[in-house]
Amino acid sequence: MNSEFAGHVGIVTGGTRGIGRAITEMLVARGAKVYLFGRDAHAGQELQQRLGSGGVFIPLDVTHGPLVEETVEQIFATEKRLDFLVNNAGITRDNLLLRMKDDDWDAVLTTNLKGAYYCTKAVARWMLKQRSGAIVNIVSVVGEIGNAGQANYAAAKAGLIGFTKSVARELSSRGIRVNAVAPGLIETAMTQHLPDELKQRYADQIPLGRFGRSEEVAEAVCFLLSPRASYITGQVLNVDGGMVMR
Ligand code: NAD
Repeated sequence: MNSEFAGHVGIVTGGTRGIGRAITEMLVARGAKVYLFGRDAHAGQELQQRLGSGGVFIPLDVTHGPLVEETVEQIFATEKRLDFLVNNAGITRDNLLLRMKDDDWDAVLTTNLKGAYYCTKAVARWMLKQRSGAIVNIVSVVGEIGNAGQANYAAAKAGLIGFTKSVARELSSRGIRVNAVAPGLIETAMTQHLPDELKQRYADQIPLGRFGRSEEVAEAVCFLLSPRASYITGQVLNVDGGMVMR
């Protein structure tokens, strides 16, 4: 059995479904205690029950900076350590630029980018004290190559890539690593609404010929959080079936 996170404590945002849920389940299965920040109380309670002592659900919207800070402080006071943070919470509000509503621009930037900023800042304070920690930000291939109809989402994810690299440089001297994982098209609620025909067209353009699974993203996240990635910081690891090749 893999128990590489035994005794480790950390936070996964938006961890009650999709990619965040797969990350949480994998971390808990490998020995970690995970605090899940999420908005869906029902799904959160249900997952907490399934995870047993390895998972603690906290109903929390990551866009509420002061609440995030207070909650992280409480977790550190309880656990006396904070080993990892996964900024996974994200939303889309797609539209072509000329039809985009200001509210949709703001909502996407606030959740995907500012939420990660709040959580990272809150956690970094404690990681700096303990002089260790690992952070993974979930970005997207769309932040690297753009996508028609997703200018807000692409801007947020590209911003999060820049944020990842800057914070990696700031925190590296204190033993804190910060990386990003860029999924391509993954089978979750976020992509469920796509018509089958469009899904097939997308799949045809992916070198590996299919959408990815949440567990495949979770594997990359666990690797970057683990000591196996001890010499890796400021990187973007694509989990996209080959969609983006540099
Ligand atoms: P999802 O919609 O299934 O899950 C997103 C989670 O974030 C949900 O649990 C939601 O409740 C939570 N969330 C949203 N706003 C929040 C907030 N303000 N506070 C707390 N929680 C909040 O989506 P997913 O596909 O699992 O996506 C997870 C991450 O992966 C997102 O950052 C997304 O942008 C990214 N991503 C997904 C894909 C894909 O194809 N599914 C591709 C690239 C990147």
